[in-house]
Amino acid sequence: MRPVVAGIDVGGTRIKAGLVFQDGTVLARRQWATEPNRGPNRVVGRLAADMRTMAQEAGVSWEDVVGVGAGWPAFLDMGTGRIIEAANLRWRDVPILAMMERELGKPVVIDNDGNVAALGEAWIGAGRGAKTALCVTVGTGIGGGIVLDGRIYRGAAATAGEIGHVPMKPDGEPCTCGRRGCLETLASATALVREGRRRGLRGPGGEGVLSTQDLFELVRRGDERAADVIREATFWLGRGLASAANLLNPDIIILGGGVSRAGDLWFRPLEEEFRRWALPLVAENCRLTPAFLGEEAGMLGAAGLAWQRANGGFAVSPSDAV
Ligand SMILES: [Zn+2]
Repeated sequence: MRPVVAGIDVGGTRIKAGLVFQDGTVLARRQWATEPNRGPNRVVGRLAADMRTMAQEAGVSWEDVVGVGAGWPAFLDMGTGRIIEAANLRWRDVPILAMMERELGKPVVIDNDGNVAALGEAWIGAGRGAKTALCVTVGTGIGGGIVLDGRIYRGAAATAGEIGHVPMKPDGEPCTCGRRGCLETLASATALVREGRRRGLRGPGGEGVLSTQDLFELVRRGDERAADVIREATFWLGRGLASAANLLNPDIIILGGGVSRAGDLWFRPLEEEFRRWALPLVAENCRLTPAFLGEEAGMLGAAGLAWQRANGGFAVSPSDAV
């Protein structure tokens, strides 16, 4: 039997898990509801049981699983393996690493969800072969992760890559982080919808509801107010990406999340703004590209993390890591 690891991506509503070979191919996948209100003990207990069932159904003895990687939607203390706070799960101060190792009976490595998704894309997604990848997810909020030479860059308190909270506009809208005018308040899906409503836009049916899909549909129909909303959001995001790129000089910026699915209507003005504000040498050597792995980026990145740990935990480039 070829060696295999388990990758687990824990979201606020669903847990996605898989058994993954060293070359990134998936042997088995499974997902189920997170049900965080049952509390950490029940959630981790169910997780361990479901992982064993998945392995059994795939014809793998759990004893043969080399290790487990997991992404949590949380601020983590990487030194002690604790969840400091997981706002989406409404959990605080949970010794998650010890709980997982006890229940799963395997070496476990954890990181936050943005970081594992970035590692997944850098390893076997849009960033395959890149040396320095910045991964940005534009959805309800804006998240991100940085992968340097095949390894997640975490920073002093494991919060590196939080591009959504780069301060942009001093008198801007309040942000979930308690400050004002962060990039997230100017360019996330939430911001697009808020600005659309402010300009009196409604969904195509005329009902009061407006989604980002509605907004892009209005742009397609030639609505100037909707086009303004997109121009403004891509202006800020393009500047934000250029700031990050001038600092990091990445060879690739990978864009994922719900808003990125709008395609060229969003991507083209964004890339123009990015190239306007990035230093020429930075812009010339940086590709902007849509994410490739979609919903599986987190699960695959978590598996990639488990493989890095299994292979000795030292720096390895994405292409030869696994
Ligand atoms: Zn913020």
